[in-house]
Amino acid sequence: MTHEVVVVGAGVGGLTAAALLAARGVSVCVVERESRGGGCAAAFEKFGYGFEPTAGLYEGWGADEIFARVFAELRDAPPEARRVSPAYAVRMPGGAQVRVGGADAGEFDAELRLAFPECADLAAEFYREMDALDALARALPRRSVSPLPSRSIFSKFKTAARRVADEETGSRLIRTAHAETVARSLAGASPRFRRFIDSQLQLFTLRASDRCSRAEAARALTLPRRGLYAIRGGAQALADALTESIRRSGGTLRFDTTALRLAYDSAGAAVGVDLLSGETLRATRAVLSNLTAWDTYGKLVGASRTPADVRARLKTLRGWGAYLVFLGVETRAAARLPDGRVLAVSDFNEGEEFDPVRASLVLNCAPAWDTRAPEGRRAATLSTFADASEWFAYHEDESEHEAQDQRELEFWWGRLHAALPELADGCEVIETLTPRGYFDLTRRRLGAVWGATPAGGLSSADAHPYRTHLPNLLLVGDTVSAGSGMAAVAHSALAVANVIAPRRA
Ligand SMILES: Cc1cc2nc3c(=O)[nH]c(=O)nc-3n(C[C@H](O)[C@H](O)[C@H](O)COP(=O)(O)OP(=O)(O)OC[C@H]3O[C@@H](n4cnc5c(N)ncnc54)[C@H](O)[C@@H]3O)c2cc1C
Repeated sequence: MTHEVVVVGAGVGGLTAAALLAARGVSVCVVERESRGGGCAAAFEKFGYGFEPTAGLYEGWGADEIFARVFAELRDAPPEARRVSPAYAVRMPGGAQVRVGGADAGEFDAELRLAFPECADLAAEFYREMDALDALARALPRRSVSPLPSRSIFSKFKTAARRVADEETGSRLIRTAHAETVARSLAGASPRFRRFIDSQLQLFTLRASDRCSRAEAARALTLPRRGLYAIRGGAQALADALTESIRRSGGTLRFDTTALRLAYDSAGAAVGVDLLSGETLRATRAVLSNLTAWDTYGKLVGASRTPADVRARLKTLRGWGAYLVFLGVETRAAARLPDGRVLAVSDFNEGEEFDPVRASLVLNCAPAWDTRAPEGRRAATLSTFADASEWFAYHEDESEHEAQDQRELEFWWGRLHAALPELADGCEVIETLTPRGYFDLTRRRLGAVWGATPAGGLSSADAHPYRTHLPNLLLVGDTVSAGSGMAAVAHSALAVANVIAPRRA
């Protein structure tokens, strides 16, 4: 079969790009090894529950944000997304808590001061700095295009000159904020406040304060207050809506179909994809890989065809695994929680280094308006970071993996109840998902489900992260998007769709 574009993988990235291309009239075929789309975000169903394997905090669902832009172009209704306010609560060891992203800024300030009396002024000042930095970063591009108010030519000139000077100063501040780590702004903070910040930064940027820039931190820490959303049906509803849209636009979806490698012509140009079944799908315009950067090269391109500079860059990328526990929570117990989504910071000793694998857990309880559970219950997901490589150590047999899973479950079950005693006996374990389980579901290298984007792209020949050394092989997904989360993935899908087939005016 021949198509203009073959997309390998039906994760949120592959589906978004394919839906946009199909809506633009491109002949597109998506191949996915699972029996439905969604990838890392696909719902896990058991005993009448529909578990969302994520933290359930979604960016980009506001009126003029990325998902509105995508669905406007698809001319389809997006899944229902409701703003969550507060976005989540952070529970500190010992019980202090702060609700983040509520409507009342004064309440947030008061809770912050109450939770961190040992450095209350610094904590409040730190958030003011983050707010100001983020406001500046957002205002800069807008200010340069906003029309001048109608005044005399002289006063217009003066205003414009001031604006240029302001923009130069602003740009300089933002450049500095990108170059410095946010740890500088936390000098003098108590270890508790630093943990509070590190745990949130790890969740939203995959880095703690010693590696996260001030600009990135400002964006991540103000995000919950700018608007995070819950999706009815979870992320799976987004995958299903995109799947439907591809079909309606005449695109082809082939589930239970595994791509083996790229097909090359005698000159070494990629001409399509060889499937595990032996069939070759030809692509006249592009092959779009929704696999991770590692897997695109390791599997589709092949080690022998991967340029040395790309191989070197791939080695520097860090990905995180995840360990998940799917829980059935009684409605009454869920109602006792400080919020539907809780980031619980683990107890730590002073001076102890921040270790993302043990530092915190996230409990994501399905909203009361979309319980995804049998009567009287809500589906909940406990997620934690995992060092994926530890789960791929040599095991003599399957029982060792099970024993590791059991140890991990007992550890997090204890931490969950220590952090949220209000759950009491109102919750039960339905299933766990280890990095090895994630590998089986997604085939991502070492089950690393939280991707890291290579700064400056993979190929030194081109700085765009979605480009490769082959002109007609492009990438889409979380290992090549600017930021983490589905909104960043959707942005990468829009960017790559615009490269392959720009939208006609
Ligand atoms: C624990 C956890 C919590 C998260 N919480 C949030 C959150 O609250 N909010 C948020 O916005 N984001 C969250 N994320 C991130 C979000 O889930 C990911 O960014 C997103 O799902 C990644 O999508 P993707 O398209 O890049 O890749 P993937 O989902 O990995 O899709 C790749 C697809 O390719 C398929 N595939 C692989 N190999 C082949 C092959 N050989 N042939 C054919 N198909 C193949 C896979 O089956 C998969 O469907 C979370 C992630 C994790 C792990």
